[in-house]
Amino acid sequence: MEIINKNLIKHQSYIDGEWLEMLDGSTTSIYNPANQEKIGDVSSCGIKEINKAIEAACIAQKKWAKVPSKEKSEALNRLYLLMLENQEDLAKIITYEQGKPLLESRGEILYGAAYIQWFAEEAKRIYGDIIPGHMSDRRTVVIKQPIGVVGCITPWNFPSAMLARKMGPALASGCAMVCKPAPQTPYSALALAYLSKEAGLPKGLFNVIISDAEIFGSAILKSSAVRKLTFTGSTATGKKLLKASADTVKRVSLELGGHAPFIVFDDADLESAIDGAIAAKYRNSGQTCVCANRIYVQSKIYEKFCEGFIEKVKLIKTGNGLDDDTDQGPLIDENALIKTKKHVSNATELGGLIALGGKTHKLGGLFFEPTIIKNSNDKMLVANEETFGPVAPIFAFETEREVIQRANNSPYGLASYFYTRDLAKSWRVSEELEYGMVGLNTGIISSEMAPFGGIKESGMGREGSKYGMDDYLEIKYISIAGVDD
Ligand code: ADP
Repeated sequence: MEIINKNLIKHQSYIDGEWLEMLDGSTTSIYNPANQEKIGDVSSCGIKEINKAIEAACIAQKKWAKVPSKEKSEALNRLYLLMLENQEDLAKIITYEQGKPLLESRGEILYGAAYIQWFAEEAKRIYGDIIPGHMSDRRTVVIKQPIGVVGCITPWNFPSAMLARKMGPALASGCAMVCKPAPQTPYSALALAYLSKEAGLPKGLFNVIISDAEIFGSAILKSSAVRKLTFTGSTATGKKLLKASADTVKRVSLELGGHAPFIVFDDADLESAIDGAIAAKYRNSGQTCVCANRIYVQSKIYEKFCEGFIEKVKLIKTGNGLDDDTDQGPLIDENALIKTKKHVSNATELGGLIALGGKTHKLGGLFFEPTIIKNSNDKMLVANEETFGPVAPIFAFETEREVIQRANNSPYGLASYFYTRDLAKSWRVSEELEYGMVGLNTGIISSEMAPFGGIKESGMGREGSKYGMDDYLEIKYISIAGVDD
């Protein structure tokens, strides 16, 4: 990888403040999805090393919990500043291993860093309560304490920000972490480990393990020393992990799949709705859990919306994310390509009309054309499963009641979007949508200042905002007797 600060490129797991030398020599090769060139080999570790990391995290966490919150805050702020200083290199690492355009990778670094900064501040605001005594001699004091050691599993679609989003609240609250990045994208996590060391975070507090997913998952879930699991990834894996967490009754935060409806009412600002749909659909080649999966357009404006949408999507330039003029990179791997093709062919078999794209891009490899499917219907795979590719199915609807019913007819409940200029409808629909997040007249909703998260099978817990710290804290009360004289 051609970057300036070569120290950011690490190939080994980071355990107890050290880069682990490989014991048995087993390595995994990592490839750039844009051209299948090998970008490096990372050495993976086994159960012994994972347990070593858990032990180190236990020791570090006990000490870290006692560090004054102002000092914790300063350490996290140093990490924040280091991320900004290294923004360009960190962004390139994302693009090399994940494929997204550099512009998006730069944004991802700023986005992840913002969570570190936000929780650096929040570290100083972990307030308790004083509750009036229930007897005349009693006072009740509530304090909040870190949960302890946190196991953390992250996905490949935002390899840096999904980890930073968890590091912020975990470390600010006084927890320690044992983390595993996705197998496709280890380098972004290892770069954050390097910066955590540079920022002066104590050894053992933040560990990054390259390992087989199941070995890691079972070691973390079996360990009674690990008190919490935080996971971002597919609903299928999240369900497995949730079940396995029961044996040690861990606290669990899950940020799982989504199937976002994107509703355009006929009183919407059409240009703005088209721009919002493009941002929500094609960012990261459609590989985000909040991306618009079902675009519902009211029948009166259906054709007009489609025309404008097609014209603008035509302008998206597909290519290697490292090229300055690229708007859309490749898909992550062969499985993603196969799934995207399957969704498109299933849609055409069930009556969908390909209005744009629909096949592998002429660049070949893992590139897929930005695709639009008109006349989509609720029986199609695209209407029910996450595509995780650049495919926009457009559905027509007649009434508000009908579209809300169709939008909510999903096991998922992560993001949703709608466009209208009617104030009463804005409130009504916002309240009716069974989703953890609603974008009203916008296709981009994430911010470190807001509580990101889903309901139903999209997960539990929230990341960001004043609520985000609660996921990493236990509540304790102290009942004080004998206050009477
Ligand atoms: P995707 O299909 O998008 O890769 P996954 O849920 O499979 O989504 O992956 C998200 C993260 O979960 C990755 O880090 C992956 O290695 C990890 N993972 C997958 N299966 C397991 C498992 N059984 N135990 C622990 N982690 C897992």
